[in-house]
Amino acid sequence: MNPIVDYLRISLIDRCNFQCQYCMPEGEELEYLRQQEVLSHEELLTLLRDVFIPCGFTRFRLTGGEPLLRSGVVELVRAIAAFPETQDIAMTTNAFLLAGMAQNLYDAGLRRINISLDSLEPETFDRIIGSRGRSRWQQVWQGIQTAYQVGFDPLKLNVVVIPGVNDHEVLNLAALSIDRQWHIRFIEFMPIGNAGLFDHKGWVDSQDLRQQIGDRWGLTEAQVRGNGPADIFQIPGAKGTLGFISQMSECFCDRCNRMRLSADGWLRPCLLNETGQLDLKTALRLGVPIDQLCDQVGDLITRKPDINYKQRETGTGNGTYARTMSQIGG
Ligand code: SAM
Ligand code: SF4
Repeated sequence: MNPIVDYLRISLIDRCNFQCQYCMPEGEELEYLRQQEVLSHEELLTLLRDVFIPCGFTRFRLTGGEPLLRSGVVELVRAIAAFPETQDIAMTTNAFLLAGMAQNLYDAGLRRINISLDSLEPETFDRIIGSRGRSRWQQVWQGIQTAYQVGFDPLKLNVVVIPGVNDHEVLNLAALSIDRQWHIRFIEFMPIGNAGLFDHKGWVDSQDLRQQIGDRWGLTEAQVRGNGPADIFQIPGAKGTLGFISQMSECFCDRCNRMRLSADGWLRPCLLNETGQLDLKTALRLGVPIDQLCDQVGDLITRKPDINYKQRETGTGNGTYARTMSQIGG
């Protein structure tokens, strides 16, 4: 049976204050959207209230680019959290600006946060995020600590594991889950954004990571099953969990319950191919009646399993990624 599609990942902005090696193409300037191309707060809230919520979406994740760079992000969180139908509102961030914003975001209704943290070594971290000036690791770490103190629960840390870059830190990162109720999620590197690095370095199979962690501490399957694609395990006696997101080594397309809305209003049913995308911003600005937009989105939900299947037929997608993860809203 196909899963209910009720989860929308909303990219608030295509810009970012980091330039992670795995997310952005090397040595190339990305072309950013102009302000007028980005959905305004009003347009986004109209689409949510009048199109997505009536189509059955109740769970929302704000992402980017870096969502904390979007001006008025706290007000947006408050407005989305206030829809009676909203069951869950979460954010994925690099946490660089989080320390100063965590309390306001929490007060506005945000409860769940995923933070990218690819390294515990400041030097490695800076190399990964492309920072050449003062180290940014400490400020990100402070953002994580503040979010924890403010009460974000669950607090999840995302790690993209890249051979020869940060794979030597897997045990140290996994160990963060022992004493803290943090959930560390290891993500297989995908050839989106920086295909050159991917071709050069390759990726680490989640199975190998589980083996490594299991050899050190033992590893049991956690009792909880998350909403998303992660397989969840636990070091025996640990307070937190370990998640493995294995989109390269495993196909979870038949469990996929999500769609993605880009900052410029394209609705995308599958991360890995561009089939079926709808340009909702242009339609809205041209005055296409809301009930027609609802019909189009409803139709796309019905077609989603076939669109996902298209990616399954070709393994890791059709290989043509016109956009990076920061532009799609990974
Ligand atoms: N800037 C925010 C952040 O980094 O958390 C949100 C946007 S970022 C595009 C969302 C997620 O996509 C991050 O967890 C990041 O690690 C992941 N990501 C980006 N490029 C990736 C790639 N090539 N393979 C796997 N994950 C990737
Ligand atoms: Fe920015 Fe997030 Fe991409 Fe890193 S992964 S460059 S923080 S959007």
